[in-house]
Amino acid sequence: MTPSSWVVVGLDNGGTSNSATLLDNSGHFLVDRLVESPSRVSEGPEVAIDALTEAIDQVLRLTGVTRDSVRAVGLDTPGPASADGVISSKGSTNFSQVGWHGFRIRAVLEDRLGIPVVYNNDGNAAALWAHHEHFRSEGPLYSSVSAIVGTGLGGGVIEAGRVIRGAAGMAGEFGHVHIPMEGLLADGQPVPVCQCGFVADAESVASLTGIERNLLPYWLTRFPDHALAGAGAMGEAAKLVRGLGDGGDELALKIFDQQAMALGRLFTIASNFLDPSAYFVGGGVVEASPMFGEWFLARIRAHTSLREEQLEVATFALIPDLDMAGARGAALAALDAVDGR
Ligand SMILES: [Zn+2]
Repeated sequence: MTPSSWVVVGLDNGGTSNSATLLDNSGHFLVDRLVESPSRVSEGPEVAIDALTEAIDQVLRLTGVTRDSVRAVGLDTPGPASADGVISSKGSTNFSQVGWHGFRIRAVLEDRLGIPVVYNNDGNAAALWAHHEHFRSEGPLYSSVSAIVGTGLGGGVIEAGRVIRGAAGMAGEFGHVHIPMEGLLADGQPVPVCQCGFVADAESVASLTGIERNLLPYWLTRFPDHALAGAGAMGEAAKLVRGLGDGGDELALKIFDQQAMALGRLFTIASNFLDPSAYFVGGGVVEASPMFGEWFLARIRAHTSLREEQLEVATFALIPDLDMAGARGAALAALDAVDGR
């Protein structure tokens, strides 16, 4: 590398693995695949910070780039965490050990490395990646919302190519936005409840947890002879629904149609709040098969009520390469922070 060229690292910190990538100062990714190493978060912050530095060294070794070429590091973790990367004082699913409660993961990694570390939660990092991948160099001209259906429902808001973080780091928490249930629920279907305690929010329907707790228990009463009725624990059965939907199973399609309707209603709210240029959808469900992903996206679009003027300019798209989205989005945020200085 020439002395004038420099790079930023993107680090996606997950429950079992860290994923790392490298982005050069012209905006070109130097790694085209997933580079993973153990995250060791369950062993507490000290071990996990070591693991993050090891993840950086690993991706540098792979690409033959030296550590002194790294100008900044982008880091993302699951929330809840503050905009400045302070893990919730109550901990969270990945950060349950007491040492994590209130831990300043961004600041501690920055002190350790001696270069700037830029933090985003994983939903925001993935949203930034989706935006960049779709709009490329024109990203700063557009806005977007991303909804990512996983165990929960995550996402993010991008305006003029940048993440909207919010005052407390909680902007774009789409899972916990209340949505109308009238016409969404079937006859006799109980009003869904979210893990957060809210009744009838988007995540209570559009998430794996929503399938397990709310949708599947009801739909099994409508399909008593269905194979999943004998599949044992509801959590295990819920994980099988995606594959069944991909194969055209009637019960599974009822469930995914309710999820699509919930996401469409969420996007309708987003259209009135933000009027974004693009609506992106990601997660396991859209990665089943391309045909199923497109069917799901078309159903979401059908359930999103946009005004005529919005329909003329809005785009709907699936988020590609979601497994790399966190690291890549984190790297893009780091590059933007260095460039913006
Ligand atoms: Zn909720």
